[in-house]
Amino acid sequence: MSKFWSPLVRDLVPYVPGEQPKMANLVKLNTNENPYGPSPRVIEAIQAELGDSLRLYPDPEGDQLKQSIAGFYGISPRQVFLGNGSDEVLAHIFQALFQHGEPLLFPDISYSFYPVYCGLYGIEPRIIPLNDQFDIDPEDYRPPNGGVIFPNPNAPTGRLLSLADVERIVAVNPERVVVVDEAYVDFGGESAIALIDRYPNLLVSQTLSKARSLAGLRVGFAVGHVDLIEALQRVKDSFNSYPLDRLALAGARAAFDDRDYFEQTRQSVIAERERLTCGLKQLGFEVLPSAANFVFACHPDRAGSDLARGLREQGIIVRHFNKPRISAFLRITIGTPEQSNALLAALPALLGNR
Ligand SMILES: *Cc1c(COP(=O)(O)O)cnc(C)c1O
Repeated sequence: MSKFWSPLVRDLVPYVPGEQPKMANLVKLNTNENPYGPSPRVIEAIQAELGDSLRLYPDPEGDQLKQSIAGFYGISPRQVFLGNGSDEVLAHIFQALFQHGEPLLFPDISYSFYPVYCGLYGIEPRIIPLNDQFDIDPEDYRPPNGGVIFPNPNAPTGRLLSLADVERIVAVNPERVVVVDEAYVDFGGESAIALIDRYPNLLVSQTLSKARSLAGLRVGFAVGHVDLIEALQRVKDSFNSYPLDRLALAGARAAFDDRDYFEQTRQSVIAERERLTCGLKQLGFEVLPSAANFVFACHPDRAGSDLARGLREQGIIVRHFNKPRISAFLRITIGTPEQSNALLAALPALLGNR
């Protein structure tokens, strides 16, 4: 702490991202990155952009990327907002759309950045427990509130809420914005983008970090009614005119345009998720049915923290949350088949040589 700090800074409780260890040869299954690299067309597009044009500012609106995203979803580019990772998009959403002096509703077990943004923007959270099956109950998200946000599929549980249940939450809150954070939707969910033309209070956020293998490029976006997009645009243009650089715009666009590669890698991750789930169950784990690129699993005989530590000693990194209700669980990112095999081979010894 220092006398130079603004008072707000003193009280901030920042988000702690999953570790990015510097060691080589780790089996890194802790931050839900895609085990497959980006499309070769992404690399080509970024290489083509590397040159004299870097002396020029990028397109502040990212119009071409908006067109690619809009083309993919059959919507208008005017319904798309771009940001430096969906974390930045979410930050703008909190500031632009959730500051109504009433509490923001979100699940107790969900993305731990939400309470951080509440702290940053002075929004009161109202934290709603998931039910005993770790599912969102739409009945719990009724007005009055200052807005609603939840990931779908949820993180770190991987549980999917049906599109009909998402619609129930949106429909019952016409006076407030409902944000569906679809970071993982491509691994088994149905996007609520299908509903945006019917609900002016629905905003869907997505990222290229997970299903499009571009966590390192930092590109996210939101889709919704033009009035919601305009609010985000106003905040963005009061903060940073150029959140996406030329390389990010070019690479992200190529990622959206290479639909075959996207489909192929997404299906590989889904298939591997089902195989890893079976393998873990055979070792006695309880595995929540997941629609994401990770599984959430616990073992009746071993503490989550012990398993995470034991795996780490063998060079396998998974995520453990030392939090109420979920401290028994490990969140394990779906990697390559070889990475799953390494995990499944390391576990029996940790479970007592069975
Ligand atoms: C990974 C993740 C994000 C952030 O994605 P970035 O685009 O990399 O900032 C947002 N929400 C959830 C639930 C996530 O898991």
